[in-house]
Amino acid sequence: MASSTAITKIDLGADGFKKIASGKVREIFEIDAQTLLFVATDRISAYDVILDNGIPQKGALLTQLSAHWFKLIASWLPDLRTHFLSTTLPPGLPSSLPFQQLQRRSMLVDRLRILPLESIVRGYITGSAWAEYSKSGTVHGILMPKGLRESQRLEKPIWTPSTKAEVGGKDENISPEAARELIGEAVARRVEEASLAIYEKAHAYAAERGIIIADTKFEFGGDVLTGEVVLVDEVLTPDSSRFWPADQYEVGRSQVSYDKQYLRDWLTSSGLKGKEGVSMPEEVVAETGKKYREAYEKLTDSKWSDIA
Ligand code: ATP
Ligand code: MG
Repeated sequence: MASSTAITKIDLGADGFKKIASGKVREIFEIDAQTLLFVATDRISAYDVILDNGIPQKGALLTQLSAHWFKLIASWLPDLRTHFLSTTLPPGLPSSLPFQQLQRRSMLVDRLRILPLESIVRGYITGSAWAEYSKSGTVHGILMPKGLRESQRLEKPIWTPSTKAEVGGKDENISPEAARELIGEAVARRVEEASLAIYEKAHAYAAERGIIIADTKFEFGGDVLTGEVVLVDEVLTPDSSRFWPADQYEVGRSQVSYDKQYLRDWLTSSGLKGKEGVSMPEEVVAETGKKYREAYEKLTDSKWSDIA
C-alpha cells in the first residue's frame, strides 16, 4: 500500500532549476538551452478540475510508464527520434529535496520547438469522435462507414489531429487536411505515419496485457536545425490516452475508464462534479492509486515498489 503522502507541488527552490511551465499535472524546469526536466506531480484532474489532494506516487508511476514506452518505441521504430534522455536526475539539486521521490517522477528530455498540433490516433469510436459521428457520420471531417456503434473498433486506426490550445483554451478537432495546411505536407505525413505506427504497435502490446488503448494523443517537436520530426511529451499514459479494461469491453455503450472511473463515479454521486476545491476521501485515493499501479504493472510486466 502507498505509504507516502501525495506530492502536489514541486519547487526546486532558489538553488534549484528554473520552473518554466506548470501544467495540470507536470512541472517543467529548465536545465539548459537544450535540456528540460519534466517532473510529474501526484495531482489528478477529473471533469477538467484539479482535485485538492493527490494520488500518492501517481507522478512516479506515470513517468516510469512513459519511460517504458519511450524505450519500447525506440526498439520498434529505431528511425524515429524521441526527446527522451533519461530518468536520472542531473546534479545540482538542493539536498533538502526528497531525492528518491523526485528521481522516480522526473524525466530529462531534449528541448524542442513543439508543433502546434495534437496528433491523435483513434482505434475505436468514442468521446468527441462518437459525438461527431452520431451527428454527421464523420470523424474530424472524415467520412466514416455507416452503422458504426459506440466504442466499436475501427477497421483501421485513423489519424485525427486537433489544434493545441493555449493555456486555458480548448483543443479543436481538425481534419487531416487542415493539419497538413497547419504544419506543411511533408511534416504532417511524417507525424501521421509515426503516430499510426506507434499506436498499432502499442495497441497490440497492451491488448496482450488486458488493456485496450482506445485512442491516444502524441505531440511532436521539430528540430529547427535538421528539420527532423521528434516525438515529445508523455506517451501512452492514462493521462494522454483512453485505456479500457479489456475484460469489461462491450460494443454499443460507453466504456469504464481504467484509471478515473472510481473518482468520476464518486464525484457524480456526491454532487461534486465540476466543483473546485474538492478533496478526495481516503477510499477514493486508495482505489484510484490501485488502478494506476495496476496499469503500470500490466503494461511493464513488472511489480511496482512503493517509495517511502
Ligand atoms: P495539460 O497537459 O495540463 O493540459 P499542458 O499540456 O500545457 O497542459 P503539461 O502536459 O504539464 O501541460 O506540460 C507539457 C508541456 O511541455 C506541453 O506544453 C508540451 O507541448 C511541452 N513539451 C513537451 N515536450 C517538450 C519538449 N521536448 N520541449 C519543449 N516543450 C515540450
Ligand atoms: Mg499535456
